[in-house]
Amino acid sequence: MSRVYNFSAGPSTLPVSVLKKAGAEILDYKGSGQSVMEMSHRSKVFDDIIKEAEALMRELYKIPEKYKVLFLQGGASAQFSAIPLNFMTKNKKADYIITGQWAKKAFAEARKYGDAKAVASSEDKTFSYIPKTKAEDFREGADYVYICMNNTIYGTVYKELPPVGDKVLIADISSCALSEPLDISRFGMVYFGAQKNVAPAGLVVAIIREDLLGAAADICPVMMNYKVQADADSLYNTPPCWTIYICKLVLEWIKETFGDLSGLKEHNEKKAAVLYDFLDSSKMFRGTVVKEDRSLMNVPFVTDSEELNAKFIKEAAAAGFVNLKGHRSVGGMRASIYNAMPIDGVKELVSFMEKFEKENA
Ligand SMILES: *Cc1c(COP(=O)(O)O)cnc(C)c1O
Repeated sequence: MSRVYNFSAGPSTLPVSVLKKAGAEILDYKGSGQSVMEMSHRSKVFDDIIKEAEALMRELYKIPEKYKVLFLQGGASAQFSAIPLNFMTKNKKADYIITGQWAKKAFAEARKYGDAKAVASSEDKTFSYIPKTKAEDFREGADYVYICMNNTIYGTVYKELPPVGDKVLIADISSCALSEPLDISRFGMVYFGAQKNVAPAGLVVAIIREDLLGAAADICPVMMNYKVQADADSLYNTPPCWTIYICKLVLEWIKETFGDLSGLKEHNEKKAAVLYDFLDSSKMFRGTVVKEDRSLMNVPFVTDSEELNAKFIKEAAAAGFVNLKGHRSVGGMRASIYNAMPIDGVKELVSFMEKFEKENA
């Protein structure tokens, strides 16, 4: 058996120890005689799994009591519609900051349901930076302000939250979920599709301040109504049981390996620095994002030649470094180095890049 280093932006690499554990438990989960894929979502065994996943999530993110943790489906993209349907209902207006394709898609959905306004954008420079905002940029009476925290495609991240005052802030944290501590109390809601950093595809985790629930629009589909999901403890219908189970294993892995999210952040910073330091010293490769907004998770880079980019991606794949092609809207390369990417994977990638640079100078 040989495993590659998988730099995919999502679905993405999972910790080997988690995969092994899931493998070992696949026929008989803890003496139940079944796999988690087969068991009732109303069984005691599964109830323990989902409760444990929630408890670990609360512990790692230090989630305040007055927040609900929901396990949902539909991907992050379904929340693009669910968010305005649940929260853009008081004054029917919301402010969006456009930092990439995902924020743009969320904004397009919100416009269907009310007065959504793009209050800032970095599209002028292919989303290579986080636009600065001032308190005055946000409208009086906006039901919420929406951001995409880490921009998977472009490799930018918010290091400081926008100055929204006491307005409700909602963030898509799909591609930086559980990668570092986050003060949940500053948000009305954060959510993430699990397939970037936490589990296989099929699960969205939403962390929502309780007092915001219960104001959904009449036309809100029942499956998208966060209050319904919260009242049913995420079991309104069949949840993605297997993915929730893997999520639990990944949370256990984070705790066992790094202690807490500060420990994990330290590890992620060290890991990203290996690649960024090389990009800053290389004469052939360079990062595409302004330094102060660089993501720890997604690292886009280019050479000055399309041919060299293509040659690099091909030779890297042959050497066991896969999925390094940049998103089609940006081109070049992108290395996604999520929590589960070992530091050795990045070190070996950099050695390969050094060798490639020498051979093609
Ligand atoms: C991948 C991604 C999405 C879309 O996720 P789906 O689960 O495929 O809908 C949304 N936002 C961000 C930041 C992402 O990285």
